[in-house]
Formats: sequence, structure tokens, C-alpha cells
Amino acid sequence: KPFGYTKHVQTVCPYCGVGCTLNLKVVDNKITDVFSTEGNVNDNLLCVKGRFAYDFVSSPDRLTTPLIRKDGVLQEASWEEAISLVAQKLKEAKQEGPQAVAGLSSARCTNEDNYVFQKFIRTVGESNNVDHCARLCHASTVAGLAKSFGSGAMTNSIEEIDVMDVILVSGSNTTETHPVIGAKIKQRKAQGAALIVAEPRKIELANYADVYLQIKPGTNVALFNGLMRAILDAGLEDKTFINERTEGFEAFLEFMDTLTVEKCAEICGVDPEEMRKAGVLYATKDRGGIFYSMGVTQFSTGTDGVMSTANLAMLTGKIGREGCGVNPLRGQNNVQGACDMGALPGDLPGYQKTANPEAVEKFEKAWDAKLPQNTGKTLTEIIDGVGDKTIKFLYVMGENPMVSDPNTNHVKESLENANFIVVQDIFLTETTEYADVVLPAHVYAEKDGTFTNTERRIQLLRKAVDAPGVAKNDWEIIGMIAKEMGVKGFDFNSASEIMEEISSVTPSYTGVSHERLSNGDRIQWPCLSKDSEGAKFLHAGKFTRGLGAFMIADYIPPEDQADDEYPLILMTGRILEHYHTRTMTKRTPGIEAIAGDAFVEINPAKALEYGIAEGDMIHVTSPRGSVSAKTRFNDGIMENNLFMPFHYGDGGANCLTGGAVDPIAKIPPLKVSKVRITK
Ligand code: SF4
Repeated sequence: KPFGYTKHVQTVCPYCGVGCTLNLKVVDNKITDVFSTEGNVNDNLLCVKGRFAYDFVSSPDRLTTPLIRKDGVLQEASWEEAISLVAQKLKEAKQEGPQAVAGLSSARCTNEDNYVFQKFIRTVGESNNVDHCARLCHASTVAGLAKSFGSGAMTNSIEEIDVMDVILVSGSNTTETHPVIGAKIKQRKAQGAALIVAEPRKIELANYADVYLQIKPGTNVALFNGLMRAILDAGLEDKTFINERTEGFEAFLEFMDTLTVEKCAEICGVDPEEMRKAGVLYATKDRGGIFYSMGVTQFSTGTDGVMSTANLAMLTGKIGREGCGVNPLRGQNNVQGACDMGALPGDLPGYQKTANPEAVEKFEKAWDAKLPQNTGKTLTEIIDGVGDKTIKFLYVMGENPMVSDPNTNHVKESLENANFIVVQDIFLTETTEYADVVLPAHVYAEKDGTFTNTERRIQLLRKAVDAPGVAKNDWEIIGMIAKEMGVKGFDFNSASEIMEEISSVTPSYTGVSHERLSNGDRIQWPCLSKDSEGAKFLHAGKFTRGLGAFMIADYIPPEDQADDEYPLILMTGRILEHYHTRTMTKRTPGIEAIAGDAFVEINPAKALEYGIAEGDMIHVTSPRGSVSAKTRFNDGIMENNLFMPFHYGDGGANCLTGGAVDPIAKIPPLKVSKVRITK
């Protein structure tokens, strides 16, 4: 190409689950600018990450060649040498049975990468030990909404915000974590919709709310029960909907009769009259959506919290209609897709269960392979298994558990004790420090493929630039290992070919193809045929499970409660500028200039008590570890609470988190940790 050759390539943002369309301006194989477009989910909007955080693609830090650890140091190697070593170690591990092999897939990789990865772990690794970071964010949504509705996905489309009469946001700092959706909520509020916000921190959306309930951390179940009690007290339940579309209501009502609004409000630490006002406001508007994220899911009672949102929607008949529903906002760009593709221990693609013999038989036929019989381990169980050496071979694709997982001191101990770890990534990360082999992969702008955003919309990525060095597509690398192992079924020539296989085995993706997407078809699953655009909203006329199920969920206090030794409660979360473990966003100088360091938010009155000034370095200690970070004052945080973003490896909040997992979804509690602070 002549010097100065310029092109524009339309693709999808690699950051949050909104899935904004980006137009990349490429000059001489380098992205030099990003523009938004009309139409699509973002309709000309972009946040700071999508608009400016693209420098990482051409960063000199990119991995350009395979690396093998020799004499304790990662050293450059050829693909042949690296693949041969990985295959040899996998063969050795397989001798010990299906529990000795495990893989962590990635919510930032494409559907095609995730499909091939889980197929590899199951058919080449002969194990169901495959999971990804959905276990840390929305495993409770998948479990909870599946119980209530039969399907664990966001029920509405982003565009339906435009017709909602009431919007209830709880457990989501939407303007920071899903900025374009946050902007749409503010826009709809300005047009006259009612807004209810229930959050322990006074987030930006609280400033626009008709009712703001500053609930104590971890009291979501009591919040939703209180709202429902208020609705029942006012006789505002939708009796027709309940009779025609649901089951389990009588038992649910019996349980609700044991509660009062006052009792629920006391647990939440809010005014009962405000709780009543919120419940009545939500119930009396015609069309309403509930939006939540990890402030509901990341608890050992996460599944209960999710089922409570479903109960509230069904009680008022606000589900299965345009502008009515329950909307779990997926954090990472493709966490919905990674789940859809079966990167979960108990689910084959399309949530077809590994415990269902018919599903197993179907996939054995399609893949011409015997599927494993073991009960797959979840992400945190895999980390445990690596540490106690029951897992001998760990394959990590695009994940960084050393920062993202709870109790990182425990993760470190496990990885230090590992038998063999291969990490496939785009940069050296905190996790590659423990890798025996590192394999260089492509980033979003270097590949074709698809992401599925938070509203179930499957969107096409297009290759814009060539990758550095000898880096390869994730699915190509997996195919090379499979070939070395002598296993067929991985000789794909393109991402489009992989999608053909996905659509042949995944009912909700039946009508999806790259050809349709490149022709401009907009598809939201379930897409059951080649001429269908799928479903704008779910559960119209009938829930996925038939009748919607009222599920009883009583409030159970979080395991961590403030005490004399640890008198404060730490919450964790995300900030606008960074994505996940910062491997990509920290390589944009402008982003780093404004959000380069970890911090601890503290109420100024509490800081005064401790003699702490804004910007002072403090130590935060929980029963699991200790970190240091600078203070930031926030008078919108309760006096006994602190907040830290989890993105940072240095000053990592997850050093402090952990505890008993949700018994159903196995999600760990990341939102409530008891801590103490010292200057
Ligand atoms: Fe859109 Fe999310 Fe990307 Fe921001 S991070 S541009 S809101 S997809």
C-alpha cells in the first residue's frame, strides 16, 4: 500500500457490554482515530474508552512471539517449539483423568474463539473444567433468571429505554460502567420517565432520581422484598398477569405475609415511606424496566437477588411486553457470548446441559468425539485445583485471574504451586508471571468474528490492521494444538466457518451467519431461522420455561459484618476510564493521566475521625490481605463504607475480597468485605 494509505473499518468496541459500533480510521496499518455512527446500539454516542482508548493495539508492549519459561525466565521460542511443549504437557495431564485438565476462556474474545476453546477443553482435553469470568459477574443472573423465566439473558433491547415510563436501577453504577446506557436513561428521565435508584453509594444517576434509596451494602433481597410488600399493601399487583402467566404465587404470598415494609426498610437502612413511594411509583407506571449489575449479583446470595428482580417484574406484569423487563447489564464486551458459546462447566453451547444425555449425544455426533463425564469445576474451583495439583494443566485464554479473582493472595499461592500453565494473551500480565508458556494472540482490531452484547445482539468485528510479529487468532492457536495432539475438528479456515458450525449446534444462533451480519442484518438471539432477526424482547406471551416462577428469597446477611477488628465495609466496583484488569486501557496515556492509580473512596467525616486528608496513602486490611492506596473523599458514600475499584494490579482491591460462594451460582462475594484502615 502507498505511504499514507487510509481506510475506515466498522467494528465493535472491545470494552463494555453495550457493544457500541466503532469506525476505526487506519493510516498505514495503525489506528489513528475512532468515530461513532448513526443507527446501531450507540446511535452516535461513545464513552471515553471506546472513543480514545485504542493506543494499546499498536503498543510496543504487545506480545509478538511465543515465549517459553527456561531457567525461570520467559524466553522467545518458535510456534513449533511452543505448541509441541503445550501438547506434550496436555498429553501427560490427560493420563491423570478428566479433572487434571482445565481451561479459562475469555469474555473479551469473540464467540468463535470461545466456541473453539470450550470444544478444545471438552474434546481434546476430555474435561468439562472450562469456565470464564462470568463466574465472577453474572453467574447468578444465568442461574437466577433461568429459574424464574427459563432464560438468563437481558429481556429488553437498549432502544426500549426510549419507551419506558419508569426505570429502576439497583446495583449498577450505569453512567460509569455502561455509559451509553446510562446516557439513555438520563435522556429518558429528561423526557418525563420516572427514575428510582437504589445504591449504597450516591452514584451520578441518584442525582436525577425521583426516589433514591441509599441502601446498606448487601441488602438487595430486603430491598426488592420491601418494594413488593409495599405494592401488595397498596393492592397494586397485576392479578391478571399473575393468574395467567405465572406459578408459585400462593406460596410466595404466604412468605411475603411474614414481611413488613418497615422490617425490610430497617434492614436496608432507609426510610420506610421512601421505600413505599418507590414501590408504588414502579407499580403504577405502565411500562417499566429494572436494570441491575454486579451490585445485585456478586454476593453469596446473588441468585436470590436476581430472582427477587424477577419476582418484582412478574408481580406488576412488567415483563414480556415492549419496554418492560429485567435487564442484567453484562460488564465485558462478550460475556453474554462467552456464556452462549458454552464456556461454562455445566453448559454446552446454547445452554444445552452437560448433564442432559440427549444434549451430550447430539454434540458427540456433531463433533465426532466422546464427551467427558466429569462435573466441571468453576473458575474458583479451578484455581483451588491448580493449587492442590489435582489440576495438572491450566490453559488461560485472555484472562488475568491474578487481578480479577477474589482473594488474590490465594490465587498467587495456587499459581505458584501450579504444575503447568499456558497463557494466551496480547500482553504480559500479572498472570503470565506464573506461566510456563505464553502464546501471542490477536486483539479485536486484528480479527474477524462476532461479539454478543448485553442485549443479546450478535455483531460483526472486522479486521482493520495486521497483528504484530507472529501473533495469531486465538482459534488458530487452539487449532494448532489440536492438530499437534492428532485431534480432528479444529481445521477451520475462518471465523465465518466457525460460526457456521456454531449455528448448526446452537438453536438460538440457528439463523446467524457472518454473511447476514455483513449485509447489515441486525440480529438478537433467539434467532431460529435464516430470515429471522430474533427477538427484541423476551417472554412475549410465554416465558422460556412456560410459566414464570415466583421464587421465595428471604434476606440473608452477608458473611462479612463489621466488627471491632474490622469496623468498616469495603465495596468494590469499576470506574468509567478502565476496563477489567487494565491491560488495554492503561496503555492509553490520556486515560492513565486521569485514572492511573488505585484509590480508596472514604466519607470525609470518617477520614476526619482517622486524621486522614484527601490524597493520603492508607493501608486497607481485611482478613484476606492488605493493600495501600490513596484516599479520595466522597460525601456520597456512607460513613462506615469504603469503595475501591478492582482494576489495579498494584493496590488491587481483590486482595481484600473473598468468602463463601453462592451455593447455586458459585459466584464469590466481591461487594462486601470487612476491613480496617490505618494511615
Ligand atoms: Fe460503548 Fe461501552 Fe465501548 Fe463505552 S466502553 S464506547 S459504552 S461499548
